Amino acid sequence: MTNCLLIGGGIIGLSLAYELSRRGLSVTVIEQGEWGGQASSAAAGMLAPLKEFQTVGPLLDLGMESLWLYPQWVAELEAATGGDVQLCLDGLLTVAMNDEEAEALWAKYCWQKAAGYHVRWLTGGEVLEVEPLLTAKAVAAIHSPQEGHINNRLLLGALVTACKKQGVKLVSGCVVTGLVQQAGSVTGAETTAGTFHADHTVITSGAWAGIMLNWLGISIPVCPVRGQIAAVSSAGIPLRTVVFGTTGYLTPKRDGRIIIGATEDEAGFQKDVTLGGLASVCSGVLPYVPSLQTAAFLEAWAGLRPATADGKPLLGPVPGWNGLSIAGGHFRNGILLSPVTAKRMADWIIKNRLEPLQPFAPGRFFAVS
Ligand SMILES: Cc1cc2nc3c(=O)[nH]c(=O)nc-3n(C[C@H](O)[C@H](O)[C@H](O)COP(=O)(O)OP(=O)(O)OC[C@H]3O[C@@H](n4cnc5c(N)ncnc54)[C@H](O)[C@@H]3O)c2cc1C
Repeated sequence: MTNCLLIGGGIIGLSLAYELSRRGLSVTVIEQGEWGGQASSAAAGMLAPLKEFQTVGPLLDLGMESLWLYPQWVAELEAATGGDVQLCLDGLLTVAMNDEEAEALWAKYCWQKAAGYHVRWLTGGEVLEVEPLLTAKAVAAIHSPQEGHINNRLLLGALVTACKKQGVKLVSGCVVTGLVQQAGSVTGAETTAGTFHADHTVITSGAWAGIMLNWLGISIPVCPVRGQIAAVSSAGIPLRTVVFGTTGYLTPKRDGRIIIGATEDEAGFQKDVTLGGLASVCSGVLPYVPSLQTAAFLEAWAGLRPATADGKPLLGPVPGWNGLSIAGGHFRNGILLSPVTAKRMADWIIKNRLEPLQPFAPGRFFAVS
């Protein structure tokens, strides 16, 4: 039986561990902190490929495939764990507040419609029919009825439970300090708890992935992009729909919170919430839903999105090294992309199926001499 070692226990590492173990592999995941304690629990949990990706192509295809995988994937996870991860695929609005924004949004609507995606163009009163709490200043919106959101923290909990049930070895509070190298192969990892050996090692360490590639002399920048984000109470503010605008977004959760976000700022590996960051998040969302003025503030936090130079994830084998792959660089969409990443990476590791991963091959950033 192939023995797999995954470095990093965020949404990507845990989803892949679950998938590989379901397909019969022996899997160990090493996490330096708490399961999902970095970007994956910081996220807003939106599942919104049509909002996020700006053109047709492999990235949008990947996002749409993942969105379609979600209901079945969640149903299986919930059946295996007995939990509810609050998946809501009941639509979202991308809103324009003036004619200039409406023009840009219309162009997006046109290519999405032409490509056959299920989107609707709404104006003035029609927008308010979908979301009555929106400001009457909204001039137009794209309504995308099949996108939505999930409670990513509950999803992480379910994945941990499911992995344990599947017999995945979960090692937390353990820092990977190096990769075991042997004549062009990687055969495991050095950690603060000793050496772990594996037939196949996968880097799933989010914003820290670039550091691990550096250990092998490979330079693929994976930059941490901080997202500062907050939650307010939905008491008295019955927001129904995810709302995106040019200055912020609002995601109503089934647990009584509305998540408001988020900054995109670069501060290295710092995860502080700054006063300026929080102010920009609050002032960014208030124009869309003015009744938020009275919302009770609950908490604010920050996470580090793993960004690549071309905005696409890194999926597949690390060229020049046998036994080593990477699943990282998911930037703003790691929650959305987790089921499809797990499926396609497992197809690579188990069935040697590389072709679907080609557009995301890590080798696009460097040549092996
Ligand atoms: C504010 C914010 C909002 C977001 N909203 C959304 C959203 O709405 N929808 C969406 O799809 N995505 C969203 N994202 C993006 C999403 O959160 C990320 O793309 C995703 O979480 C990346 O997952 P990951 O498992 O690769 O990284 P992480 O969750 O960061 O996991 C990597 C793990 O590796 C561990 N690690 C690192 N180095 C070591 C080491 N040396 N040894 C052991 N372990 C190590 C870390 O501790 C960490 O737990 C958001 C992100 C942020 C910050």
